[in-house]
Amino acid sequence: MQGPADFGVVIVAAGRGERAGSAAAGPKQYRLLGGKAVIARTVEAFRRWRPACPIVVVRHADDEALLAASLGEAGHGVMSVPGGATRQASVRLGLAALAAADCPPAWVMIHDAARPFVTAGLLERIAETIAAAPDVGVIPALPIAETVKAAEPDGTITRTVPRDGLYRAQTPQTFPLADILAIHDKAAARHDVEFTDDASLYEWASSPVRLIAGEKDNIKLTFPEDFVEAERMLADSAVTVPDIRVGHGYDTHQFVPGDEVILCGVTIPHNRRLSGHSDADVGFHALTDALLATIGAGDIGSHFPPSDPRWKGAPSHIFLDHAARLVREEGGTITHCDVTLLCEAPKIGPHRDAMRAEIARVVGIDIGRASVKATTNERIGFIGREEGMVGLATATVVFAPAGKDTP
Ligand code: MG
Repeated sequence: MQGPADFGVVIVAAGRGERAGSAAAGPKQYRLLGGKAVIARTVEAFRRWRPACPIVVVRHADDEALLAASLGEAGHGVMSVPGGATRQASVRLGLAALAAADCPPAWVMIHDAARPFVTAGLLERIAETIAAAPDVGVIPALPIAETVKAAEPDGTITRTVPRDGLYRAQTPQTFPLADILAIHDKAAARHDVEFTDDASLYEWASSPVRLIAGEKDNIKLTFPEDFVEAERMLADSAVTVPDIRVGHGYDTHQFVPGDEVILCGVTIPHNRRLSGHSDADVGFHALTDALLATIGAGDIGSHFPPSDPRWKGAPSHIFLDHAARLVREEGGTITHCDVTLLCEAPKIGPHRDAMRAEIARVVGIDIGRASVKATTNERIGFIGREEGMVGLATATVVFAPAGKDTP
């Protein structure tokens, strides 16, 4: 396995992107896509793969403030350098900045700013290919599906180009950093060589470059219709990857002599009570944990420590209400709560609907979305001996789809 600093990233964002629409819309890498700048999405794609990998963005000399504003929080830890007159010159400046860093990475991924849909899966496949063959360059590419024509400027076809063995190159294009920088330096010393991608330089230097399968969605936003397609892709992914979370909770308390128990907020006369720091409501405690689980917010004990005298004898709807509030503050919509109570006695059935009503009231959902079930433990184990009882719960919470909740 490679360490996190083995790969660095150079994102080429120095172009002005006139082909993507009117000049007034600005360079395409700074345009909004699903409410977020394209370049911020591109940086985040690499961060999702390797959160700590060094990233250099090569920008136009005039775009320092625009870049910072467009990246927002995604710009944390990102280095930016002004580019040159051509793409090739800009890449070289980015490579030099990466090589001058404190701990330069062994390999560099050179990526177009206008390809925001690069996936962690593709980046990982590139890394695996490099690990197996450390001295070659690796680029993703797709075979050409359409018939390829050559034509005069007036549209008259001059010939059909055989498409066998032809590929469309994508980025990131990945190389040993020292090697690709040396080749860029060599090319820069001559004024007659200008290439549109970095694999071309590697080939020019007679160094091996290998293709791996690219991804159809790893499109380069170039023309206005590409942005229409990109918005559609974002909308599709939002529909096909809903953010539904199911949290689980468990609680147990011991029976001691007494005259009533409180379960899911309902007081039931009984010949014992449940022992605990609060009112020992195993139903509400389990459901509180289930809700907290949907936002990774710890458990009931971390919010309401038993050592805190404030919670002595406290009614447990306080805990449940708190958890439901936290879930809503994180953007969650609670769609279902399900509690199972395990005890030999008291009988739960007669109180089931009162418990469902209490859950619905405290959590803030329709009673049809609140479920209470019960079972005995067939007189076995500590539950069967009526030494204690158990509450189990699941909570289902729906969040805004990823990519839509953080414009
Ligand atoms: Mg408890």
